[in-house]
Amino acid sequence: MCYTCYRIPNSSRIRNSCVRKNRVTESITQVAQDIFQVQVPVPFPLKTVQCYLVREEGAWTMIDTGLQYAPARQAWAHAFQTLQIEPRAIRQIVLTHAHPDHYGLAGYFQEMTGAPVFLLDHEIEIAVFEWQADGEHMDMIARYFAKHGLPSSIGESVHERQMQVLAMVQPQPVLSPLREDEEIQIGAETYRVVWTPGHADGHIVLHRADGLAFTGDHVLMKITPNIALWPGLAPNPLKDYLDALNKVDRLNITPALPGHRAILYDLPARIAELRAHHAARLNDCVAAAQNCTAYQVCLEIFPSLKTVDELRMALVETLSHLEYLVAEGRLVREEKRVAQDQEVILYSAHRVPSN
Ligand SMILES: [Zn+2]
Repeated sequence: MCYTCYRIPNSSRIRNSCVRKNRVTESITQVAQDIFQVQVPVPFPLKTVQCYLVREEGAWTMIDTGLQYAPARQAWAHAFQTLQIEPRAIRQIVLTHAHPDHYGLAGYFQEMTGAPVFLLDHEIEIAVFEWQADGEHMDMIARYFAKHGLPSSIGESVHERQMQVLAMVQPQPVLSPLREDEEIQIGAETYRVVWTPGHADGHIVLHRADGLAFTGDHVLMKITPNIALWPGLAPNPLKDYLDALNKVDRLNITPALPGHRAILYDLPARIAELRAHHAARLNDCVAAAQNCTAYQVCLEIFPSLKTVDELRMALVETLSHLEYLVAEGRLVREEKRVAQDQEVILYSAHRVPSN
């Protein structure tokens, strides 16, 4: 077992008390006192989601769950066996947000363990809306993508993929609400629920007094969290996200235990990179939006999309930037009828009318 003090490069300041980090097996790492990170496979380009098991006297908390599919269930079975966890020892399941890779197995584990599943109150409303088993929300997404210029041939593949994802979040859990700024006991520690909308409307960070936090997908190393505009959800998620980055920047979080990629020990530095990334992408969108659909802008700023998953995420990411720019007055949005029962939405740079 190794004990490591993490020192930030170019800084004489040690940013956190000693953090214990110990590879238990290939998919399980102890990342702090009584906190184990579990790599759970996902059938998406990200490959894995990082969930956590937090130990206390005779019980455990599970943070995030993975998708309902066999490799994910096998990863959890391995973790339970390795850490000698009986299902009834899971005292609670806490979700950072209701995206499928974090939420998908919550119902499965609730049935197995009897544990309550906690999610921010606002995100519960979204989960109920998004994961309706009849697929009504998925049909709404198909109409939305068509309106933003996605060709119908590709739209069918995207819809098919959305329906596959819907199957990977069943059964649905009974959800218990968390409220912004409330405190929750996880392991032997108390965490504050910090609402960080943007990546998901009801995304939370769980932050404890010594600085350690479970940060879900709010801030990730190497990759930028997807900031998506979906129909029926918050109208300007990029603004929400940038505001939430400012909020988290002030909290002195370290280490940040994320849902994907490496643990973060210098959150402000990564937040600065993310701000710069979105500023540059906004400029790219302004340059690309010349009386064209979001799909056309998307192909311009993401020229090498390979899979349906990449395309649907890129399109909703593009839309969050375009609508941010509309709200800022830098772009205008216009509806245009292209067939008797089909309208498309076009974006173009805002021009000051000349007299
Ligand atoms: Zn997510």
